[in-house]
Amino acid sequence: MFEQFETLPMIPLRGLSVFPSMILNFDIERPLSIAALDAAMEGDRRVFLLAQLDPDVEEPGKEDLYTIGCIAGIRQILRMPGGGVRVLVEGQSRAQIHRLLLGKAFLEADVEPIGEETDEEHIRLKEALMRRTRGLVGHMTMMIQGNGPGPGLFNGNLDDYREPGALADFLAQNLHISHEKKQAILETIQPLRRLEKMNEILEYEIDVLEVEGQLQRKTQGRMMAAHREGILREQLRTIQQELGMDEEQEAESEYDEYKKKIEALPASDEIKEKLMKELNRLSHQGMGSSEGAVLRTYLDKVLELPWGVMTEDVISVEKTRKILDEDHYGLQKVKERILEFVAVRQLAPDMKGAIICLVGPPGTGKTSIGMSIARAMNRKLSRISLGGVHDEAEIRGHRKTYVGAMPGRIMNAMAQAGSSNPVLLLDEVDKLGTDYRGDPSSALLEALDSEQNHAFRDHYLEVPFDLSNVVFITTANTTSTIPRPLLDRMEVIELNSYTDEEKLHIAKDHLLPKQRQRHGLKAKQLRVSDPVLRAIISGWTQESGVRTLERELGALCRKAAMKLVEEGKDSVSVTLKELESYLGVRKYKPEEKRREDTVGLARGLAWTSVGGVTLDVEVAVIDGTGMLRLTGNLGEVMKESAAAGLGYIRSRAAILGIDPNFHRTKDILVHFPEGAVPKDGPSAGITMTLAMISALTGAKVRGNLAMTGEITLRGRILAIGGLKEKTMAALRAGADTVIIPKDNESDLAEIDQDVRSKLKFITASHIDDVLHVALDFTGVKPWKPEKQEKQPEQPLLGVPAPEPERPAERPLAN
Ligand code: ADP
Repeated sequence: MFEQFETLPMIPLRGLSVFPSMILNFDIERPLSIAALDAAMEGDRRVFLLAQLDPDVEEPGKEDLYTIGCIAGIRQILRMPGGGVRVLVEGQSRAQIHRLLLGKAFLEADVEPIGEETDEEHIRLKEALMRRTRGLVGHMTMMIQGNGPGPGLFNGNLDDYREPGALADFLAQNLHISHEKKQAILETIQPLRRLEKMNEILEYEIDVLEVEGQLQRKTQGRMMAAHREGILREQLRTIQQELGMDEEQEAESEYDEYKKKIEALPASDEIKEKLMKELNRLSHQGMGSSEGAVLRTYLDKVLELPWGVMTEDVISVEKTRKILDEDHYGLQKVKERILEFVAVRQLAPDMKGAIICLVGPPGTGKTSIGMSIARAMNRKLSRISLGGVHDEAEIRGHRKTYVGAMPGRIMNAMAQAGSSNPVLLLDEVDKLGTDYRGDPSSALLEALDSEQNHAFRDHYLEVPFDLSNVVFITTANTTSTIPRPLLDRMEVIELNSYTDEEKLHIAKDHLLPKQRQRHGLKAKQLRVSDPVLRAIISGWTQESGVRTLERELGALCRKAAMKLVEEGKDSVSVTLKELESYLGVRKYKPEEKRREDTVGLARGLAWTSVGGVTLDVEVAVIDGTGMLRLTGNLGEVMKESAAAGLGYIRSRAAILGIDPNFHRTKDILVHFPEGAVPKDGPSAGITMTLAMISALTGAKVRGNLAMTGEITLRGRILAIGGLKEKTMAALRAGADTVIIPKDNESDLAEIDQDVRSKLKFITASHIDDVLHVALDFTGVKPWKPEKQEKQPEQPLLGVPAPEPERPAERPLAN
């Protein structure tokens, strides 16, 4: 170890340490440092390089400096524009500063060089440390480079350094480690200790690299997922290229294909232009683009329409009659009307207009008539169900700009029909709704209107389509809810409820054969006699049409098929006794239909969209204050009708044998069962009135009765509508006598012969006329006034004085 001090110009280093035997260059800028450099150049070209503790200090004092630095020889200097100097130095030896000399333009220091110790004792330790160091460096190199080739950690070969101290210095000088760590190595004088410290640093660095690697793998995983699709696409493209059909080609062939189709379209130039425009837009889209998918769907939808496809009409009254008769029993009037329609077409094939609207209860054959018409005319048929359609867009489509937009039901039906002159069957026009989403009926109107429909424009398709060759047939349960403008354009043909006799024929000749065929049965394999069919009709169905009947016959066929297969029989013959084993317990029992005479319970008749139905009314009288309470979801008209009936009763209380004060002392509760079903209309007037009289007097309402009629305040009975349907309902419900308004007498001719023969009709123009028919006063004690009160003139029960005069009122049908 040298004992003497040396005075050398000193350059303070910022963030840098220089090691003995190492050559490196760095830039200096501070005048202080440049002056020191100059001084050294003038002397023996040696400087003392000492690192600052804080690199930011401009003019460091002793306390700002480490204590151990390196004496270096200056090999080269390069003055740079701007005043800076690049200097190439070679470290010579460690040195410790003893004194910092100020006062000159540069710093000088008294330094004590520290010679490198040699250690001959710990050879093995030295060797082990050296090997371990090399191992660690190799490991680190691998971690940084991965397995692939790449730049090494540093230039130079570790094997060149045979001494632990020199190896440590070399690594410290060249590795990317913090300046503090470098300085720590510089300050470790003992070579083995120095290398040990270097090893610790290497291990630490390896740990950090390990963690870094893990982080990187995680992020990479995430990035991979994001890029996966892109890579897959790239691969797909490559595969396509390999197969010789790259995207462009494909797009081209798609373009050509569409173009060919568009050119061949028997449509106007305007339409073709529009489609070409869309096609050109498509050609600018990439294969996977969503806009491209939308355009493709659009073109497909337009192209699949039956442009110019026409089936040849067969318009023949003869053939139509044959087909209608083949498919349907009865329905004479309906068939006649349809034949008239066909006859007009036969004479004037080009005449457009007349839209048939088949109106009637469910299951009365409306849809199937529509289908027969299509068959008779040799046209394709497409059905559109309008029930519950609230939105105009459902009829006319959503604009293409909406996500998931589609054509409306009309154009869908046209595409389905596959010809531009099909029969379009619009089911349930009476169930069209209207709300804030637009009025579907106006869109429908446009489609049906022969003035406008030669260029019907669907919002989605955007191109006009000719609907003028379409035959529209609509069906509805009632005309009352069909929007007026629509109704005005339609020719209404009514279908009525079937009588049991008609149902028998329909079942025998149509439904059963149809169901047999559907279940793979031959006629001789399943025999059902008339009495059995009748029993099914009365015991398992109670409907206007024949839908349930058809379903029950289907069930019968299924069970029979099962029997044939399981029991290995040749044929099955259904008997009355076995019927329940086929169809389950009888649903409507005849004995239940027979009703006892009951106080306060009367059977009315109503006409609803499902045909005629019976409508019971129950009345109870309790002590109270003269309230009339009506329950059972009743409309205004019905409530008023009840009030009118009550008015009549009050005016006749004494004669009817009722306490005239009942309107002060009693509450009357009137209830219609099935409260969830809304009910309205005036035709339950006499039913409510008779039930109230019954409850007030205690007289029983006869159970075999059904009745219908509007009532006025003065007890007059006015005409009602739907008599035919109502009488059928009365018969179905087990009544044998029906009270009807006298004004409806003429309608009796309309009523089916079968029904007429089974029911007794009582016509009445005033409720007084039917009091005795409807009510049983046996054993009823009429109310008598208190002795002291003046007796009414003729309190004769049930024999009311005729009304003095009855001005003729115009009967109102409901
Ligand atoms: P709607 O459309 O009136 O509700 P459908 O046309 O669906 O009734 O009729 C229900 C079933 O009853 C169909 O299978 C139909 O063929 C049949 N049907 C209805 N009326 C008759 C009839 N008069 N003759 C033969 N079958 C009928």
